[in-house]
Amino acid sequence: MALMNGEQYRDSLRKMKPLVYFLGERLTNPVDHPMVIPSQNAVAMTYDLAHDPQYEDLMTVTSSLTGGKINRFGHIYQSIDDMVKKVKMARLVGQKTCTCFQRCPTMDTANSLFIVTKEMDKKLGTHYHERFLKFMREVQEKDYYVGVAMTDVKGDRSLRPHEQADPDLYLHVVEERKEGIVVRGAKANQTGSINCHYTFVAPTAAMKKEDRDYAVAFAVPTDSEGMIHIYGRNPGDTRKMEKGTVDLGNARFSSQETLLVFDNVFVPWERVFLFKEVEFAGQIPFLFGANHRQTYGGCKAGVSDVLIGAVKLLAEYNGLDKIPHIRDKIIDMVRLTETIYSCGLATAVEGEKTPAGSYFINQLLGNVCKLNVAALPFEMARLAVDITGGVLGTMVSEKDLKSPEVGKYVEKYFKGLPEVPTEHKMRLIYLIQNLLFGVNSVGYMVESVHGAGPPAAQKSSLYRLVNFEQKKNLAKNIAGIE
Ligand SMILES: Cc1cc2nc3c(=O)[nH]c(=O)nc-3n(C[C@H](O)[C@H](O)[C@H](O)COP(=O)(O)OP(=O)(O)OC[C@H]3O[C@@H](n4cnc5c(N)ncnc54)[C@H](O)[C@@H]3O)c2cc1C
Repeated sequence: MALMNGEQYRDSLRKMKPLVYFLGERLTNPVDHPMVIPSQNAVAMTYDLAHDPQYEDLMTVTSSLTGGKINRFGHIYQSIDDMVKKVKMARLVGQKTCTCFQRCPTMDTANSLFIVTKEMDKKLGTHYHERFLKFMREVQEKDYYVGVAMTDVKGDRSLRPHEQADPDLYLHVVEERKEGIVVRGAKANQTGSINCHYTFVAPTAAMKKEDRDYAVAFAVPTDSEGMIHIYGRNPGDTRKMEKGTVDLGNARFSSQETLLVFDNVFVPWERVFLFKEVEFAGQIPFLFGANHRQTYGGCKAGVSDVLIGAVKLLAEYNGLDKIPHIRDKIIDMVRLTETIYSCGLATAVEGEKTPAGSYFINQLLGNVCKLNVAALPFEMARLAVDITGGVLGTMVSEKDLKSPEVGKYVEKYFKGLPEVPTEHKMRLIYLIQNLLFGVNSVGYMVESVHGAGPPAAQKSSLYRLVNFEQKKNLAKNIAGIE
């Protein structure tokens, strides 16, 4: 099925049996659990929008591998336009869900592995590229969502993988068999790990020859034997299990992150894309990082659009809309949002064709994009807190609003404009709270800093990518230094 819709996607997950734990207990039917449903709704949006004629050009594309019409989330870039559309698509889905919709690692990792496997085969005479293409054809034809597991738990961060007191603190190969390999370890902060059909697994950083066993990349089904998904907590997450929708702010959509344990997981050779070739291990996270950092210029702009809309509406409901400093702050939020979006677009426009035959983003600009994403949402959050007022942290509950005893006081004393129901104000306040301090603050605030690596990783990538020689020569030329 080349293009699933949201319901078909949910059904496809129901056929899988991942081992999932939440609050210390096993979830026997995670697909239909109230903690999980909003996160699946967010992914389902990427499937439903592909069927909306209005977004057909953005959400779907003709595959370079199968020749069929596929969801853009599984596409290998064939042009600059593909990379521009990726950012626009990410902004659109961010606007529709106001959360991390999780699916972008499929294209961000696939486009990196496409290049690295091709280069490995050319230099080493291996056959990884054909293996990878075979897998990607299946991903595209079946419309799979493939997550990515790169971030090892890392133990003592000052030590290399092989130096750790416990060898499993970085995922590594523990057995080599005729049919495949067995791996052990764990990956932290795994987005959508039980919402995806497959997971790409790759090293978190460059490896040295002593770390050979840690230099491994592959794809595995989400419900592989030995894979254990331990569901991470979001602030205020148990509100999802309460009745009512107001206090959640965004009742329909959320992200999903887990600690993903690989307890002796078998991987057949046909799904292995790197095996102990240490010199190529760092290239996968390096290229993925830059590519994923660009995507944030789209998705975080989309989420910021919802924040701006909420703040503007609330200002109107409170009779603040015409006050100059409020307008000024809202316009600043627009400027910050369009700045990160511009970075995402520029990263695409300055991309180019690679020796592997696909296109790739401009890595330098991708890193600049993410550094802005790691900072600007926090400035927007400060402005939103300012405009919203103290109720952002002190609002009473939906139960109070609906209480026969105190409901009338809530209705009366939280009123803004007389014609606007108090519930509408409460819904906006809780939406802003959800994004800045609640369930979706993980996707908007924490992920903006740490997703695709922390800011220090972007700076070290930039240091490698910047052509300082050219800049020094420019200065010498102007200063008159021979
Ligand atoms: C919401 C969210 C979703 C995510 N989704 C995914 C996903 O789907 N897949 C995935 O693979 N990863 C994912 N990540 C993980 C993300 O890439 C990591 O959080 C990030 O790389 C930072 O790693 P860490 O969390 O282990 O923090 P740490 O590595 O502990 O970093 C903490 C601080 O220590 C610094 N530091 C750490 N080690 C060193 C060192 N050796 N030298 C100097 N400074 C150091 C860092 O720069 C940072 O300032 C996600 C993260 C978040 C927050």
